[in-house]
Amino acid sequence: MKDPVSEVSRARIQRLYPGLRPLVYRTMQDVLARSQRAINVAQGLRTFDEQLVIYSEGRQLQGDVWKVVAPSRILTNSKPGLSWHCYGLAFDISWVGTDPYLEHDNASDDLWRLAGDCGEAHGFSWGGRHVRLLNGVFDRPHFDMAFGLTIAQALELFQHGGLPAVWAFIDKVRGVPEGQDWDLIPKGAH
Ligand SMILES: [Zn+2]
Repeated sequence: MKDPVSEVSRARIQRLYPGLRPLVYRTMQDVLARSQRAINVAQGLRTFDEQLVIYSEGRQLQGDVWKVVAPSRILTNSKPGLSWHCYGLAFDISWVGTDPYLEHDNASDDLWRLAGDCGEAHGFSWGGRHVRLLNGVFDRPHFDMAFGLTIAQALELFQHGGLPAVWAFIDKVRGVPEGQDWDLIPKGAH
């Protein structure tokens, strides 16, 4: 059988915090086994700059305050540093095929719930349960795992030592050797 995980998905998984990677693969396998539908990893690690681009979608900077101008276009509530994506601790899925967000699929609710169940079974928090976007829609493609960190703690660690400081903290929490399997992309190389 052809490996159902695309190369693009693999590359995105490889940039996540190492402890997440096998759990993402298992989530993908379980979704496929239970639904006969394959999923992609549509988003993984985002730099602070990339997060700003997404945050600005549907908003306009007025003075030094971001105002919502198009609620339906809002993609995130999180400024740079306030999303688990910025620390390689979150990923978003899409569905393989012509309807990646199941907008024209009668089984949409069931499939998203199934994916959520699969991710939660591997320890992820699922956006379909707890992340509500400004337009009132739950963020069903989103999964994250924070290892007990708060986003404020992650941001503080990052401000002192960048991504390595955040990952080193989590390595310690998990009791694994610091730096194991990090494969950090050099600065500016993404
Ligand atoms: Zn997300």
